[in-house]
Amino acid sequence: MRLFDTLSDMGHEQVVVCHDRASGYRGIIAIHDTTLGPALGGARFWQYASDEAALTDALRLSRGMTYKNAVAGLNLGGGKAVIIGDNRTPHREMLFRAHGRFVDSLGGRYITAEDVGTTVEDMDFVHMETTHVTGIVSKSGDPSSVTARGVFHAIRASAQQRWGSDRLEGRRVAIQGCGNVGFHLAAELTKAGATLVVSDIDARKVARVVEATGATVVASDDIYRQQADIFAPCALGGIINDTTLPELRVEIVAGAANNQLLEDRHGDELASRGILYAPDYVANAGGVINVYSELTGWDRQRALRKADEIYHTILSVYALAARDGIPTYRAADRVAESRIQAVRAMVRQWPQYPNKE
Ligand code: NAD
Repeated sequence: MRLFDTLSDMGHEQVVVCHDRASGYRGIIAIHDTTLGPALGGARFWQYASDEAALTDALRLSRGMTYKNAVAGLNLGGGKAVIIGDNRTPHREMLFRAHGRFVDSLGGRYITAEDVGTTVEDMDFVHMETTHVTGIVSKSGDPSSVTARGVFHAIRASAQQRWGSDRLEGRRVAIQGCGNVGFHLAAELTKAGATLVVSDIDARKVARVVEATGATVVASDDIYRQQADIFAPCALGGIINDTTLPELRVEIVAGAANNQLLEDRHGDELASRGILYAPDYVANAGGVINVYSELTGWDRQRALRKADEIYHTILSVYALAARDGIPTYRAADRVAESRIQAVRAMVRQWPQYPNKE
């Protein structure tokens, strides 16, 4: 990899390669952009095939966080850490304390959190070494109800855009994944009068949703071909792909899963098939809003109100897509970029750093 050319192309500010021999910690912290505020993003603990694969993931994920935080209207930049190793290891304290020390050395430019392979208990170890950590025990707690609230509003906004009314009464929604977010989303949709068809590979998760909402259950592979109004992916990434696209019988795709499009071209394909796509990182920003509430001291109600704003954010993304004749996933990127540019311009005019609560 031509490192500095890559950083220049992707727009990163700083990449820190960290090593602690005693604990075996090998980590990369990537800070993409801090125009809006400190770079926030979780720490992913993963056995990467190579150091280069770990670096590539850190660069890609940290840039994604810049966009997600910007569109959500938060005063946070984008960053991400990757820790290389087997995430099932029982030897965690020293590893995560080492991570905490390296995070601390950045003086608040990067705030770490949980991600794939890490837990709240791991963040407690990080917290022994730094205050620049979120998602610790007894703080903001499980984000999934806030995430589900945001996705619910993304669905309402999409209905408004597609059918001229955001009422969901009588609409049929296919939800893939009945986990934390899927469960809360199913409850919100049922309250709004929608009927549900759901799938999950875990029978207990499905049973919990059926009991709460009376949803119809289908086999995992059948969820894509449901005749429904809306498909809400709340399980895995990459599920909009060459195999699933021709199967979709819906007018809207809006859900919580990260990285729903396997490749960008699948977003183009959704648009050309006339399926309205609520860009995933806009729809699922409730999770990061929840973390932000921990940093700013917002109570639950204020976090939920912020998640409600996703309704208008999604509509502004759709308006831009229509105006410029571009797919909605590209329009979301432009909304993020224009907010960052606007704040950057304001920094030049104002003697103080503007990101104050
Ligand atoms: P979760 O692990 O609680 O739920 C995921 C569910 O998907 C599980 O019940 C799992 O059994 C099911 N699943 C896995 N493979 C499946 C398949 N092939 N078909 C059907 N179901 C399948 O996770 P979650 O917290 O509910 O998050 C759901 C998605 O939303 C994830 O992609 C996550 O990255 C994303 N997300 C979550 C949050 C949050 O606040 N939890 C925030 C932003 C994004």
